[in-house]
Amino acid sequence: MSKRGMLVILSGPSGSGKGTIVRQLLNERDDTVLSVSATTRPPRRGEKEGVHYYFKTRQEFEKLIRQNAFLEYAEYNGNYYGTPEEPIRRLIDEGKNVILEIEVQGAEMVMDHRSDLVSIFITIPSLGELERRLRERDTESEQAIEKRLDIAKRELSRAFRYDYIVLNDDVSLAVERIQTILRAEEMRYSRMENYILEVVKNA
Ligand code: 5GP
Repeated sequence: MSKRGMLVILSGPSGSGKGTIVRQLLNERDDTVLSVSATTRPPRRGEKEGVHYYFKTRQEFEKLIRQNAFLEYAEYNGNYYGTPEEPIRRLIDEGKNVILEIEVQGAEMVMDHRSDLVSIFITIPSLGELERRLRERDTESEQAIEKRLDIAKRELSRAFRYDYIVLNDDVSLAVERIQTILRAEEMRYSRMENYILEVVKNA
């Protein structure tokens, strides 16, 4: 019996360790993929077109908005970020779980329009810890770090919109917590209904 994949939103402040968590999760699950977003932000060192993001000009991005190409999009820290819709539909039909690693405004846009979602907010032990992580990363100016901290405070205040909160005090533990959520979600009646109907039909 073919099963449809799950659409999984993963949000959390910049510096919460989302990226590392997602990489480890993808290593552990071959039925799960990460959606590649489009953005107008310039590439960081080592980032590749089509792997980390599809890098667009503002003009190109706005054209895609007009063409309804995005499941959601948002402006974050002065740049556009958006999730291309078509690949997601295809992957879910193929039975893959698709992870959207997106910020809260865009996440809320998806939550407002779809109910078949699993939404997870990754949090850090404290804002002091977040500041330390952002400085350790050392890819941005002081001003940019201050701005990200400010955004983080606003993002934390939207955590109540999510189904689950996962604390990232340790990456492996955080991944295990997410695995627990996904394993339980796979057994929801709505996702198992076809199996049950098939069993009843053949009884
Ligand atoms: P960064 O510039 O650090 O790669 O990403 C900044 C923020 O944008 C992160 O919180 C990241 O999760 C979010 N983001 C990445 N892609 C998307 C997207 O397609 N849509 C939305 N709404 N946010 C995104």
